[in-house]
Amino acid sequence: MLAYRDLTKEQLEEELLKQKEAYKEICAKNISLDMSRGKPGPDQLDLSMDMLDVFNSKSELKSENGFDCRNYGVMDGIPEAKKLMADIMGTKPENVIVYGNASLNIMYDTVSRSYTHGVNGSTPWCKLEKVKWLCPVPGYDRHFAVTEQFGIEMINVPLLEDGPDMDMVEELVSKDAAIKGIWCVPKYANPTGTSYSDETVKRMAALKPAAEDFRIYWDNAYGIHHLYDDEANQDQILDILSECEKAGNPDMVYEFASTSKVTFPGSGVAALATSKNNIEFIKKQMTIQTIGHDKINQLRHVRYFKDINGVKKHMMKHAEKLRPKFQAVITMLDKELKDADIATWTNPKGGYFISFDVMEGCAKKIVQMCKEAGMVLTGAGATYPYGKDPEDKNIRIAPSFPSPEELVEASKILIVCTKIATIEKMLDK
Ligand code: PMP
Repeated sequence: MLAYRDLTKEQLEEELLKQKEAYKEICAKNISLDMSRGKPGPDQLDLSMDMLDVFNSKSELKSENGFDCRNYGVMDGIPEAKKLMADIMGTKPENVIVYGNASLNIMYDTVSRSYTHGVNGSTPWCKLEKVKWLCPVPGYDRHFAVTEQFGIEMINVPLLEDGPDMDMVEELVSKDAAIKGIWCVPKYANPTGTSYSDETVKRMAALKPAAEDFRIYWDNAYGIHHLYDDEANQDQILDILSECEKAGNPDMVYEFASTSKVTFPGSGVAALATSKNNIEFIKKQMTIQTIGHDKINQLRHVRYFKDINGVKKHMMKHAEKLRPKFQAVITMLDKELKDADIATWTNPKGGYFISFDVMEGCAKKIVQMCKEAGMVLTGAGATYPYGKDPEDKNIRIAPSFPSPEELVEASKILIVCTKIATIEKMLDK
């Protein structure tokens, strides 16, 4: 099979007819598939069911410092949960505040507090003429939704193979004091699955922002979410907190993580890691917001896993479920699209997503055609601020939820739709 660009107009017309025939056949099957969100599959949720047996009405619910977890108190998390979350993030327990059930609302809350009350004493952002934010793209739609809701102007920064374009980040933050933050998913990023190189982490930690209240929002959502158990096939990143300290910027970062994709999304444990100064400031507000989070759930997680090694072992069970799913998609794409040379895709070693780039101007059409054939994908453009992909070429594939067999079907649909949309674009139809 030749690359599409090497086909004659007649050959392209012929290929288009063939693909349209295939599309018709697919549509006739009345398929119903959802690859829109990075949800664990039911088989993955089953992996954590034993955690529910950790406690019953006879259980002793005291934390290691003797605190009765059934009662009010311990606003920033029980010590053993701090330790576990610190180990998950690769930092120290004294840098950690354990929150509630998920991390997105910690991020929202952090932006919200900065907006209403400033950052460690700085002018609240709501009183400023303009607040801007750097958004590595493609990125996570829910991050962009948070900054959009606060009227923050988002600036696209290309996400390269080793992290955001740091030349651009350095230049922008050093010149513009209106830039107050950057969204980062440093490991197995949503949606590319790529991880930041050591150099990127060091450059990020050594930024010299014009704004003293500039903060790096380091969303380490996939820090332990490897797909392979051998270290050679795992990405590792540097610890941002210690890099920031070394660079003389100890207060410049907030790191977020949760067990959403370790145990149960929505019923996990989430945490923030940051400097002592930042923790002090945050706690002043927190004490007005809450008397404490769900300590029974914190204790349940620690009793179930014991320590970070227990978590790592558990993550390998997830990997066993996820690997064939990623492989099903990648194998199909390799087989059906490589020769045609009309798209590129990532082949991540972890995380929950594959990023799929098509010919400029085709993504929306492909997603729409897939929908009409019974397969829901994340909306085209969702991986960009304001839902606007300037080149209309990025599609996020979330292979975690369907079965490997369904993923083969799903990939077929995606491939046919990609072929049709690309040829039609080439033929200017
Ligand atoms: N951050 C990223 C990068 C994610 O992909 C997700 C889930 N899709 C989240 C955060 C959500 O995490 P949580 O469930 O802890 O709110």
